[in-house]
Amino acid sequence: RDSTREMHLARLRSEFVSNVSHELRTPLAAIRMNAETLVTGRYRSPEKHDAFLQNIMRESERLSRIVDNILTFSQIESGRKTYEMHPEDPAAIVRSALEAFEPMLEKRGFHLEVQIADGLSSVLVDREAIGIAVSNLISNAIKYSTEDKQLAVTIDERDETVLIEIADRGIGVPSTERERIFEKFHRASNASDGTATGTGVGLALTRSIMDAHGGQTELEPRQGGGSVFRLVLPKGDN
Ligand code: ADP
Repeated sequence: RDSTREMHLARLRSEFVSNVSHELRTPLAAIRMNAETLVTGRYRSPEKHDAFLQNIMRESERLSRIVDNILTFSQIESGRKTYEMHPEDPAAIVRSALEAFEPMLEKRGFHLEVQIADGLSSVLVDREAIGIAVSNLISNAIKYSTEDKQLAVTIDERDETVLIEIADRGIGVPSTERERIFEKFHRASNASDGTATGTGVGLALTRSIMDAHGGQTELEPRQGGGSVFRLVLPKGDN
């Protein structure tokens, strides 16, 4: 059984390498195309010029996110990841993650709804790591949405915890796979139906980060279609 498991892991790993290459190639190609157009001056108006520059910025940010994800994942896997915990405002972390996605949300025609409860407690976290966790969920919500492009982000409190919810109206996760998608390299059977590509490390990474904070990562099907992913963090001492 061990060798079957090892073969399975070896296959997943090799798929992972090819998926990473693919993930990196897409933004790189977009950056090159946009830069080439700018260099050759083949654009019609000043507005077009700006649009090409903005594309380059958006795609570079996407590249950074992919690289950050993989680096953090490899640090966690090898036990080298360290966390710097400070009291932070959860709303500020979520807002800054959202900001990075705004151009993409706008370009793809998403409706964004943000609900942040008043007087939220602070949380004792590594700001960058929680930023990565939140960004992974937002990125997935965008990636796995098809016609109904709605993103709802909520921050609230329940008992001694702060809840960050990212809800979409996307393809959802088959009920039998709701646990497995948090395993490294695992992609759900319906993930490759559409055009969404990925490396399968985002949710594993998100869960490890939440574990390191004494928190949880939850998934529920959303009523009326789609998914709700929830990060649960213990309240910090105020
Ligand atoms: P990937 O790089 O494949 O997106 P993740 O680890 O982020 O990797 O997610 C693992 C799998 O979970 C995805 O391949 C997809 O099948 C599923 N998934 C994650 N988020 C969503 C979502 N918002 N809606 C539907 N399926 C999702």
